[in-house]
Amino acid sequence: ARRSDGGGIVVIGLGRFGCHLAASLTRMDREVLAVDRNPAQVQRFSDQIDRVVQADSTEEGALRQLGVASFARAVVAIGASVEASVLTVLALVELGVPQIWARATSQKHAKILSSVGAHHVIFPEAETGDRVAHLIVSRLLDFVEFDDDFAIATVRVPGSFVGRTLLDLRPEERSGVRVIGAKVPGERFRYASDDTPLTQGGVLIVEGGIDQVQRFAGRR
Ligand code: ADP
Repeated sequence: ARRSDGGGIVVIGLGRFGCHLAASLTRMDREVLAVDRNPAQVQRFSDQIDRVVQADSTEEGALRQLGVASFARAVVAIGASVEASVLTVLALVELGVPQIWARATSQKHAKILSSVGAHHVIFPEAETGDRVAHLIVSRLLDFVEFDDDFAIATVRVPGSFVGRTLLDLRPEERSGVRVIGAKVPGERFRYASDDTPLTQGGVLIVEGGIDQVQRFAGRR
């Protein structure tokens, strides 16, 4: 059963980005109301998402009829049409949706979205491009970058670490990164401690400044 405690989310625009977003939220057991004006998209996702309806989201009245005003959150996942995306945000603002997330495809697009009242602006293409660039040039397995030059990443246990201990290697003093988790191949991640086993093929979770994390992982 899906949650109906106000945790529902409206996803508008089932393009390449929106369909993954709606599917992930559904897997997280969230009630999703998905809207797209293209009947073919609606048809395509009708068995994967609880409620998928065909409507033009720039029409405030259409959204009102669908009950969008009673949702606490909406995501405008339209990317290609700046006009449709901006008018949709405006309609959601008029309906009084308390948390509006909107996808921007450029800085100017983002400015307009914020000025009409979007609360969170996201840049999926820019963020993914940036993240993948880090993965390509370094030996990082995965990488999340935060504000203020801080990152958390997963990295293979460096060859020089194998068979030693964190107590002995002191990566925080040497490289400025903190090892917070580790896993032995085939097992789950565990919080790292001084005597965490550092095995060949193992993976570490490290945190620190972006450059430090990158340098710790090594270049590819
Ligand atoms: P992506 O890059 O994620 O594929 P697109 O911008 O190409 O994003 O696709 C956005 C989706 O939004 C499409 O499925 C399109 O039919 C839908 N869409 C565009 N305008 C509207 C609108 N006014 N109302 C509802 N859905 C819309």
